[in-house]
Amino acid sequence: MAKEDSLNFIEHIIEDDLKGSYTPASLRFRFPPEPNGYLHIGHASSICLNFGLGETYNAPVNLRFDDTNPAKEEQEFVDAIKRDISWLGFEWAEERYASDYFQQLYDWAVQLIKDDKAYVDSQSSILIAEQKGTPNEPGVESPFRNRPVEESLALFEQMKNGEVGEGSHVLRAKIDMASGNMLMRDPVMYRVLHKPHHRTGTDWKIFPMYDWTHGESDYIEQVSHSLCTLEFLPHRELYDWFLDQVYDPKKLRPKQREFARRNLSHTVVSKRKLLKLVEEGVVSGWDDPRMPTISGLRRRGYTPESIRNFADSIGVGKRENLIDVSHLEFNVREDLNKRAPRVMTVLDPLKVVITNYPEDKEEWLTAENNPEDEAAGDREVPFSREIYIEQEDFREEANRKFFRLKLGKEVRLKNAYIIQADSVEKDADGNVTTVYCTYDEESRSGSGTEASQRKVKGTLHWVSAKHALPVEVRLYDRLFTDPAPDAHKEKDFMEFINPDSLEVITAYAEPSLADLKVEDKVQFQRLGYFTVDRDSSEEKKVFNRTVPLRDSWAKLDTNS
Ligand code: ATP
Ligand code: MG
Repeated sequence: MAKEDSLNFIEHIIEDDLKGSYTPASLRFRFPPEPNGYLHIGHASSICLNFGLGETYNAPVNLRFDDTNPAKEEQEFVDAIKRDISWLGFEWAEERYASDYFQQLYDWAVQLIKDDKAYVDSQSSILIAEQKGTPNEPGVESPFRNRPVEESLALFEQMKNGEVGEGSHVLRAKIDMASGNMLMRDPVMYRVLHKPHHRTGTDWKIFPMYDWTHGESDYIEQVSHSLCTLEFLPHRELYDWFLDQVYDPKKLRPKQREFARRNLSHTVVSKRKLLKLVEEGVVSGWDDPRMPTISGLRRRGYTPESIRNFADSIGVGKRENLIDVSHLEFNVREDLNKRAPRVMTVLDPLKVVITNYPEDKEEWLTAENNPEDEAAGDREVPFSREIYIEQEDFREEANRKFFRLKLGKEVRLKNAYIIQADSVEKDADGNVTTVYCTYDEESRSGSGTEASQRKVKGTLHWVSAKHALPVEVRLYDRLFTDPAPDAHKEKDFMEFINPDSLEVITAYAEPSLADLKVEDKVQFQRLGYFTVDRDSSEEKKVFNRTVPLRDSWAKLDTNS
């Protein structure tokens, strides 16, 4: 049972059904992806909804591949979909395929023809479309609508055997060409396609359409609640009509119910559009860390928990809306704050020489791994006379609000000493190349001395120059400059691609980063959360920035 006070509207429907003729044991759900691309963050909402209901009601949830279009579907996508759902932490009861039901669907279709509920139409798809009418005008009946049952049966058989060409005939349900619901105007049930299917090979030359397939598949699997997105609301009447033709009252009758699609800002959540980004080389592949796919987010450094928490926090609704990507980023920050060890890495190095620190001396200083997690323990970081700090952390002169390093003033080096900037060296263009500092030997963090407890305003991260590990860092920005790139009537979404969505730099890291493995996650202190990319090699580690520590965009937005 779900908790009464926090029910979403789908759970209310289920609770009402449980008060009626449904028993808890009769509940069954499914997640029905078409294997024509990788899953995206919108699918995550549907996955969390269906599998979440399965957990709430202790009911089975099938993974059903809606594989009725051999032109677009591939085994690679089937494998990727399974990998992503498992990674999110869900287990399906059974792995099913609509193509498993091709024979049953065919047998039912033959029965529909015999019952004069379906007929073979031998017109072109263009003509059929022209005869559909408009919402205000009834359609025109096909001249083949009343062809003899025997003729339809024979033609349907020929279609099945591949004896007729693609597009020469279709099978249509005989419903009502004057229906107020355009979908009820003799919808197509089957088309001829001579392409090999990723599972059934060349066995079938006819392929069932979505509407004919989906409800009957739900019925075969005895799915109690078939949840889909709102654009299928007008399809519900047809879903029910098709069920009426085969329904046995001794069995459970599936219900289609609809919820709102979730859209994320500054990206597109449509497999077709994401495929275009892959095919045109805008991104490196389906799992490019800029993609809103589950596998892209995974490679970017998102955790399954952060995606599930995001999906749960936006919930299920009846109205479509655009969720700002900052909500997603908030969830990953929250999660990584608890689990990511802190390390020091300098992205844009400026050399600092500590003139009163002995040249040949080095120390290994104790650093806390995660202030949010005591069990994370400590590590040692090397300190020496020459270190790197960030370029932007030093200014020769600055106003009183600049709490970082400036000439004549002090800052604390994280986990190390207080230093004061004394002088600089510049190149021919006047850029500072080295800052000369002195340190207070008594001020080492954690040493307990009076000097170590002295308050200074700024604390900087740093890396010992001679111990520094060069690493490749990939900094990502939004893939699209517009919040809703595919919501423009005159402009194609491809026109809004952000040309600066990827910046690759060499950074200098503390040596402990050499031990990290692919997908390990760390916080580069003061900079953000980063994860090890699979492009890493023995020679060079590659890091993806998952998200900066704060939302720099939100700040910009409020200032503007
Ligand atoms: P796409 O346009 O990206 O191909 P789709 O709806 O055609 O999406 P399916 O593979 O048919 O993709 O989707 C599987 C399930 O996921 C369906 O029940 C669908 O309604 C749901 N779904 C797809 N996109 C979203 C979204 N943005 N928000 C919520 N649910 C979604
Ligand atoms: Mg689709």
